[in-house]
Amino acid sequence: MEVITRDFFLFLSKSNLLNKMAQSWGSRVAAGKIIGGNDFNSSIPTIRQLNHQGLSVTVDHLGEFVNSSEVAKERTEECIRTIETIADQQLNSQVSLKMTSLGLDIDLDLVYQNMTKILQTAEKHKIMVTIDMEDETRCQKTLDIFKDFRSRYEYVSTVLQAYLYRTEQDIDELDSLKPFLRLVKGAYKESEKVAYPEKADVDANYKKIIRKQLLNGHYTAIASHDDKMIEFTKQLASEHNITKDMFEFQMLYGMRSQTQQSLVKEGYNMRVYLPYGNDWYGYFMRRLAERPSNIAFAFKGMTKK
Ligand SMILES: Cc1cc2nc3c(=O)[nH]c(=O)nc-3n(C[C@H](O)[C@H](O)[C@H](O)COP(=O)(O)OP(=O)(O)OC[C@H]3O[C@@H](n4cnc5c(N)ncnc54)[C@H](O)[C@@H]3O)c2cc1C
Repeated sequence: MEVITRDFFLFLSKSNLLNKMAQSWGSRVAAGKIIGGNDFNSSIPTIRQLNHQGLSVTVDHLGEFVNSSEVAKERTEECIRTIETIADQQLNSQVSLKMTSLGLDIDLDLVYQNMTKILQTAEKHKIMVTIDMEDETRCQKTLDIFKDFRSRYEYVSTVLQAYLYRTEQDIDELDSLKPFLRLVKGAYKESEKVAYPEKADVDANYKKIIRKQLLNGHYTAIASHDDKMIEFTKQLASEHNITKDMFEFQMLYGMRSQTQQSLVKEGYNMRVYLPYGNDWYGYFMRRLAERPSNIAFAFKGMTKK
């Protein structure tokens, strides 16, 4: 049943029609619950509030299905403005973005041009830009882009997904770049040709890659709401004298807020992933696929004034 629900929401997440309809409904369903607001400026009070609670942030301008170079350029400019505003307003925030939003499905040169402009701004302000990982068909291209930029820029990081068979090898191949990596279980529907179909195997591989990246001595983000993974990381760090400044926990905005606070109180670095924008539909559907009880948030959002 769990698999059917997950597959159903992941199937819905790809619907262009529903995406358009969701945009026209506006973001009332999700705003203040799982996203910051319609645009970056309207998310600033939320960022300040999170910072005030000892949480750092990474913001993500939601946007999937980008299929024109004009939109990709707009996304690039928006990202640059966001980095500049973060610096101006002295917010404790980084930026996350998807390569498809910069034109990955249109033209690789376009992505390189857009990403160069973004990373030049990021280096100037010393603000980390994390390349989110999308579905497996885009993984190699995304890693190639990351490797190329990482060899020239400091303020760029990316994400590896525990459900992919290839990930352990990717960690080995990235090692010489001393990368800051966000490690996640993986959010997309993948074939068993490329990804572990069983959750137990994904969890086991997640522990393996957390261990590998931390013992390699590179800064690591453990992005999971799973207590078992959090405990595993704490224990690993204490066994190997890995200090708290070498890693951080990350969770999505609106999920497990109490746990986020407890981790801050224990002295761990805790970062909240805060999406914003009208294009919230695909993101929202993937969250429902992970945990259908997130529907409760949606209904509260719809009925609340
Ligand atoms: C900051 C961040 C960034 C991410 N970036 C990416 C990315 O770039 N690419 C990508 O593919 N995926 C990304 N993801 C999503 C990720 O891959 C997983 O799909 C998602 O985090 C669900 O896996 P999990 O490890 O949190 O826990 P799960 O395996 O879904 O759940 C394990 C257990 O954790 C507990 N739990 C989980 N969620 C909740 C909740 N909301 N409330 C209470 N308990 C809960 C439950 O006990 C559950 O049984 C990101 C996730 C985070 C947190």
